[in-house]
Formats: sequence, C-alpha cells, structure tokens
Amino acid sequence: MIVNDRQKTVLPVELSEDRYQTKQISMGKEIAIVGAGMLGLTLALRCVDHGYKVTLFESAPEIGGLASVWKIGDLTWDRHYHVTLLSDSHTRKIAGDLGIDDEFEWVETKTGFFTDGRLVSMSNTLEFLTFPPLDLFSKFRLGLTILYASRVTDWRKLEQISVEKWLTRLSGKRNFEKIWKPLLRAKLGNAYRESSAAFIWASIQRMYAARHSGMKKEMFGYVRGGYKRLLSRFEEVLTEKGVEIKLGSRIKTIEPDDNTRVRITESDSVRTFDNVVLTCSASVVSNLVPGLQPDELNILSGVRYQGIICASMLLKQPISDYYVTNITDETPFTGIIEMSALVDKSEFGGLSLVYLPKYIAPDDPMFEQSDEQIQEHFISGVESMYPFFDRQDVVEFKISRVREVFPIPVLNYSQKVPDIRTSIPNLFVVNSSQITNGTLNVNETVQIAEKAFEAVLKWSD
Ligand SMILES: Cc1cc2nc3c(=O)[nH]c(=O)nc-3n(C[C@H](O)[C@H](O)[C@H](O)COP(=O)(O)OP(=O)(O)OC[C@H]3O[C@@H](n4cnc5c(N)ncnc54)[C@H](O)[C@@H]3O)c2cc1C
Repeated sequence: MIVNDRQKTVLPVELSEDRYQTKQISMGKEIAIVGAGMLGLTLALRCVDHGYKVTLFESAPEIGGLASVWKIGDLTWDRHYHVTLLSDSHTRKIAGDLGIDDEFEWVETKTGFFTDGRLVSMSNTLEFLTFPPLDLFSKFRLGLTILYASRVTDWRKLEQISVEKWLTRLSGKRNFEKIWKPLLRAKLGNAYRESSAAFIWASIQRMYAARHSGMKKEMFGYVRGGYKRLLSRFEEVLTEKGVEIKLGSRIKTIEPDDNTRVRITESDSVRTFDNVVLTCSASVVSNLVPGLQPDELNILSGVRYQGIICASMLLKQPISDYYVTNITDETPFTGIIEMSALVDKSEFGGLSLVYLPKYIAPDDPMFEQSDEQIQEHFISGVESMYPFFDRQDVVEFKISRVREVFPIPVLNYSQKVPDIRTSIPNLFVVNSSQITNGTLNVNETVQIAEKAFEAVLKWSD
C-alpha cells in the first residue's frame, strides 16, 4: 500500500541512481493514462521523461478536467476559479518544468465577509479586531483556534474527532454558530456533521502556509493568460515529447489481458498496455473495472463526493475589491470569488469576472434545474447583497455543473482510501480520494501524481 503521509512523499526532482536503473527497465514500455486533468497531465510528463511510451485518454473534447477552460463572452478563461499560492511549490515546480514559471503574477488580495446583511473587510489583523458580529472575547477565542490549528502536526488524531465538536470546544458555541458553521456548510453542505476536524485543520494549514511563505503576506498568484496558458503549454510539451493525447475518448472497461498486460476498451476500439493508470473519480473507477476484488470495489464505491454548481458572471462593473467574499448569511450561492480583484483587468478586456459557487451533494435536485432558473436565482441573490448592482451590467452568465469534485472528509477517512496499486497487475488508481491530509487543490493533485509515478515505477512488472 502506498503511504499517505506528506512527509514520506518522494519527489522526483532529479533522477536518482535507482531511477536511472528503472529508466532502463521502463524504456519503451507502453502506459495508458485515463484522464487528462492536472493529475493525468503531470503523470504523463513524468512517464514520458522516464522512457515510457505514453497514451493519454480523455473523455472531454479538451484537456484540463476541473482546471479546464471555456469561452465566456470573448474571453477564454478558467471554467472554475483557480488561484496559486506562493507556497504551492509543486504547482510552481510543474510550471517550471513547462518553462513558464516566470509567467506568474503575485498579488496581495483582500478578503470580504458578508454577514448580518453587511459586507465587511477581513483582510488584516486590525479588521479582524473590529469585525462587527463578534465580541472581543469571541474574537480572541477564534484567533486562538486558528493559531492552535496552525501548530498541530498530528492530523491523524483530528481525523477521529468531528469538526463540529472540535471547533465548538476550541472556539465556543457562539463562534461555531456564527462563523464556523456557515463556512463549513458553504463547502460541505449538511455533510459537515459527518466530517472530521482534519478538514478544517488542512484548510487552516494551507492558509497559514500562504501567509508565511517569505513575504509574510497572503500572496495569491496566477499565470498570465490563466489555465489556458498552462494547459496549452502542457499540450505542446507532451506532444513534442511524443505523448499521444486522445481527446473525446471515453474509456468503457478495463480488464486484465494476460498475466501482465491490461486491456482498455473504448467505444470502438480495444488496446492493450503494459501499465494503465486511472485518474478518474473513485465511483467511475468502480464502474470501469468490474473485475476488481469485492473489497476494492466496496472501498471505491464507498467514497462520497461533494459536487458543485459554479456560475461565471462577466460584468461591465466590479462588485467589490475582494478576491474572496465569505458568506455567513443564507444566499443562493456559498461564496463569491471576484477573479478580476486578483487578475489584471487587461486580461478581461476591462470587464470583471465573478464566480458564484454553490457546493452541493451529487444527488441535489438543483443539478436538474435549467440554466435560466439558476441564473435568475443567483442574480437575484447578488442584487439582494449589493444594492448598487445592476443586472444590465451582466455581459454573460455561464454555469458549470460537476457532481463529483472532492470526497467528503468523513471520520477516519484515511482508513477508507483506495490503494494506488490494484489487485489487477499493472493497473493503478490515483485520484483526489487519496488526498488524506489536505484540501483539493492543484498543488495536492500534482503531489499525488508524483506519488503515482513512484508507485508505477516500483510495482509494475
Ligand atoms: C470550483 C473549483 C475551484 C477550484 N479552485 C482551485 C484553486 O483556486 N486552486 C487550486 O490549486 N485548485 C483549485 N481547484 C482544484 C483543482 O481544479 C483540482 O485539484 C484539479 O483540477 C484536479 O485534477 P485531477 O486531474 O485530479 O481531476 P480532474 O480534473 O477531475 O480530471 C479527471 C479527468 O478524467 C476524465 N475522465 C473521467 N472518466 C473518464 C473516462 N471514462 N475516460 C476518459 N477520461 C475520463 C475527466 O473528463 C477529467 O478530465 C478547484 C476546483 C474546483 C472544482
């Protein structure tokens, strides 16, 4: 079993002597990677650099998965909001490998809080101290909770405690009801009740790392041109190195072919490979590979996901200067991300780009609502929050729906995680369900890809 412990992750920065030997062995071996999200792309790069002959299968018509781009108005920008933190060393390393590490812009951003019908800034210590909805003692407890969480190193213990219990004990009932509960519900919905304290610990750790990465300020970054630039560079580099990228290729089944090779069935063709790595969600894997052992299938189908409806709104005017606005009141969406408060307006032709995410369970009936219904609901929500907002300023409104974004971090989650190595020789599974002590972000995704690469080298015949 691969070890799910960040400390033990070995990063293939340089080719070690061992690696050199395995390179000889992998030279010319055929590997198929299913899924061309950031995980599959990173893995493809590592494998081709190691001498593998790589084929990348992607069901969508474009690469990128959750980080893919689409057209909104005349722009091509990220389908879902994406930011890189100064502390995201793995994301930055991959950008470096693609030769675009000097294309990041780093910006100090502001954070807003919409609470009790008011929008307030919460971007520095002074603003925290004057934050209206809490008395000084509550703020003190809240501050202590964050400080304490940032110092905890043993996340495994936190996995055994419910997040509600842990935060109430540390911050008090008032802070939990007023601040933590709305924030947890914004991301996890009602599943926050079953979630462990490791979730909030990982979120605080990431926020702290951002604040303590050299500049002592929360620096957020983006590649000029957004993920479009990063993905097109990925495509160029992989193609130059000989990776076959098959878009619009939905894999239907995976089976062992003989003792060592693995058979992949697309709609109209069957191919075999020395190694196959699946990067799709756990539930998709359980459908694709019915020949796995019952206990493997149970684990895979037992991973519960949280989904999202994420609207992109292109506007003539900005609505605030906050990159993130956290919302503690009841609104149709669970947060506001104003991308144009981070990204230079020239990228958007002078317009403003605002994301309205709503995290919901995969079976939430909202997934069945029409674009028009969601648009009306969301725009009315923005109108009620910002009295100056004029719906005539909406240049374009687009909606993304994804039923499986990240796993619900239930109690003792790390014991319920699918293994990278499967019972079918040379078949590997790697996806975000294997992130046990972090939140879903590209930095974690790239790390998981590096782990998968190590696993393939170690365990393939
Ligand atoms: C709303 C939102 C906001 C985010 N914000 C940030 C952020 O600010 N910063 C950050 O770092 N990260 C952010 N992330 C997280 C980031 O997008 C993910 O960490 C990353 O994209 C996950 O990549 P992946 O390759 O693991 O998964 P995916 O992107 O889901 O890739 C899996 C791929 O497999 C393909 N696939 C599935 N089934 C099949 C099949 N049968 N055959 C062939 N292909 C198949 C899918 O089409 C998909 O392309 C955000 C994500 C979301 C949804």
